Amino acid sequence: MKRIFILALDGTPFTFLKKAVDRGLMPNFAALVKQSDFRQMDSVLPPVSSAAWASFMTGKFPSRHGIFGFVDRTPETLEWFVPLSNHLQGQTLWEYLSQHGKRVFVMNVPLTYPPRKVNGISICGFLGSDILKGTYPPEIGKILKARGYQIDVDTEAAKRDLISFIRQLHSVLDKRIETMRHFWRQEKWDFFMTHIMETDRLHHFLWEYMENNHPEYAPLFFDFYQKIDCMIAEIIQTIPDDMELLLLSDHGFTTLKKEVCINRWLWEKGLLRFTKSNPQTLADMHPESSAYSLYPGRIYINLQGREKNGVVKPGVDYEQTRQRIKQILFELRDPENRQPVVKDVLFSEQLSGQSKQKRQIFSAGNVNGINLSGNSKRLNSTPDMIALGHYGYDLKGNLWRENLFEKTVFNGTHTFDDAFILMRNKLLPDKRLSIAHIASIILSALEVPIPDDMETVC
Ligand SMILES: [Zn+2]
Repeated sequence: MKRIFILALDGTPFTFLKKAVDRGLMPNFAALVKQSDFRQMDSVLPPVSSAAWASFMTGKFPSRHGIFGFVDRTPETLEWFVPLSNHLQGQTLWEYLSQHGKRVFVMNVPLTYPPRKVNGISICGFLGSDILKGTYPPEIGKILKARGYQIDVDTEAAKRDLISFIRQLHSVLDKRIETMRHFWRQEKWDFFMTHIMETDRLHHFLWEYMENNHPEYAPLFFDFYQKIDCMIAEIIQTIPDDMELLLLSDHGFTTLKKEVCINRWLWEKGLLRFTKSNPQTLADMHPESSAYSLYPGRIYINLQGREKNGVVKPGVDYEQTRQRIKQILFELRDPENRQPVVKDVLFSEQLSGQSKQKRQIFSAGNVNGINLSGNSKRLNSTPDMIALGHYGYDLKGNLWRENLFEKTVFNGTHTFDDAFILMRNKLLPDKRLSIAHIASIILSALEVPIPDDMETVC
């Protein structure tokens, strides 16, 4: 019977791993690379963990699964909310495999809270707040709590004391590895997946130190990857040779040059106005505003008929507003070196994939945000446009900041085109891959039929 083991390293870049292999820093991973297909891979737009893992688990791009970030808004009320697994449109890979009689174990993948029913065990990841409510079946939560298992590290700790934060990262990872061992031994799983969030956390606070070879923090950064390398060695020794082994990340990382407040830029250009100084919520947006932004780089037009108090008319007015915003985003320059901040701007209709069902949906409806037939709920979360920053510019979604550009405690930020994928036994398709393609590759490795609405690479 075909089986697969997946190790996910959140935010680990292909180029970083390649360097680590070339410099002999990860000998076990290097040995694995020699017998595997190891590639650079694209994330999704925007390249954030909840959107990218939602694409991994559904085999769909965000415009079809509806998850674009850690925050979303209801257009009719302009209230913010945090999208969770119950906002995800479509079935997950592990639900689908469950239906095909496979035994699945999935631990710590972002956006798996609240847990969905599977033929096996599901343990929630990031955005889950309570492990006692975060597992299927529910009694697993009690076992994990008793073992001292944690969903995530306290990132606030990094702002107070970096050394104690790194210590915590190790202890959260140690418990995760112990838990992986515990459940691996329980039975012969068909699909077994462990997700490591700690790499992303490490990168957000230490990436620049690693790149600049900081005397104190760079060695601690590499120590952490040595532990990951030992974990990889253990996995290779434990799983049978005929079990497929897949490693991947959901996006890359780079040194954060500056955070950029996109709403502040829209405000400076007269496209966004507020009813008070220091606005706190979207309710403080002036009705005559043309657009607003959510993290990272998502832009929503204040569209009549969709948004509360929408003033931009569908059709010509809408298109002209998008073109105007695209132009002003490309005008945005770093005041220090005059370098452009925005690398690319995509409109909603450019954010789609290739699956059969998607082609049918998009040919049936219009794409300007109102009448896409079949699923208005999904479309409401699709931004009218997404800006992708040049490496190092983090396009923040704060409604208001005193400064357009800021440098804060974060020193690493995500990249779109530098995720990785590694597959041990099989060759990957000979094409640039996106994380949205991986579900169909997994199903094909497991010899399970690929549903029509899933992205494929043919
Ligand atoms: Zn991150």
